[in-house]
Amino acid sequence: MSAKIISGTEVATQIRVELKKEVDEMKEKHGVVPGLVTILVGSNPASISYVTGKQKTAHELGFYSHQDDQPADVSEADLLKLVDKYNKDPKVHGILVQLPLPKHIDEKKVLNAIDPDKDVDGFHPINVGRLMIGGDEAKFLPCTPAGIQELIVRSGYETSGAEVVVVGRSNIVGKPIANIMLQKGKGANSTVTIVHTGTKDLEAHCKRADILIVAAGVPGLVKPQWIKPGSCVIDVGVNRVGEKLSEKTGKMIPILKGDVDFDAAKEIAGAITPVPGGVGPMTITMLMKNTVKSAKIHAGIK
Ligand code: NAP
Repeated sequence: MSAKIISGTEVATQIRVELKKEVDEMKEKHGVVPGLVTILVGSNPASISYVTGKQKTAHELGFYSHQDDQPADVSEADLLKLVDKYNKDPKVHGILVQLPLPKHIDEKKVLNAIDPDKDVDGFHPINVGRLMIGGDEAKFLPCTPAGIQELIVRSGYETSGAEVVVVGRSNIVGKPIANIMLQKGKGANSTVTIVHTGTKDLEAHCKRADILIVAAGVPGLVKPQWIKPGSCVIDVGVNRVGEKLSEKTGKMIPILKGDVDFDAAKEIAGAITPVPGGVGPMTITMLMKNTVKSAKIHAGIK
């Protein structure tokens, strides 16, 4: 039987409707408007497209949103001053510095300068530590891993006691999603294994997974015979494998493939995310969710 396709596009839309309602209520009952600032240095086309998407969504949800464009030659000191300005601005509850930054700027220094209580990307070491501790300590979960957890939970898969195998140990996906899934609590409480290039028998680990999360960046790495029948497969990989002509725009667009052989895997798994349209649409939505949470915490709203 063919697997249920977990549509990130649909789940993201659903969460955005919930968030819009929450934002409207916050405004009406408490006079609080969530505020998000995105800082863009230079004019990298991919970065422009990412921040534009974030600003557009923030605007649609009724946030106070502002994009601060800085020239590619802005000094590190000036960028740090800018971050400090927004750290102190009460209208701003979330600060996002779009990466990558030009080579003359120490990325780590800039990200670490963001007030951890406004770090809606969840990458500040304090928030990484809070995630490790878990429970109420965890303030802002990094957006892509948080989106993955939402997809699993909303697809109805039982996470408690499930064997979760995560392929990849990056700081932005693999390590945080593994930490999220092993926490004691709802939507987690799983038995987690992380595999990587040093793992001896990748196939044997994947075959055990009730929930398989793949974030390696290697197209087709996970073969259909590695998938446990009926399992939930979350494919985080986004790999450009060529180009095609868009029927809609008449322009060349990238052909994207995940880390899992989707067509074959969907005949074995119980549920699976497509690429594109799976994890991808969740990331911006979770950024918005973090910003709403930050605004509530700052305003003392329960
Ligand atoms: P990354 O930093 O390159 O990390 C990849 C991880 O996968 C590493 O831990 C690596 O192991 C492991 N790996 C690579 N090849 C492997 C193999 N053959 N066998 C076992 N493990 C292997 O990548 P990332 O930033 O986590 O991103 C992973 C993928 O997710 C990419 O395709 C990226 O584009 C995509 N992504 C999507 C979203 C989204 O949809 N919103 C967000 C983030 C990332 P080692 O540590 O041993 O090198």
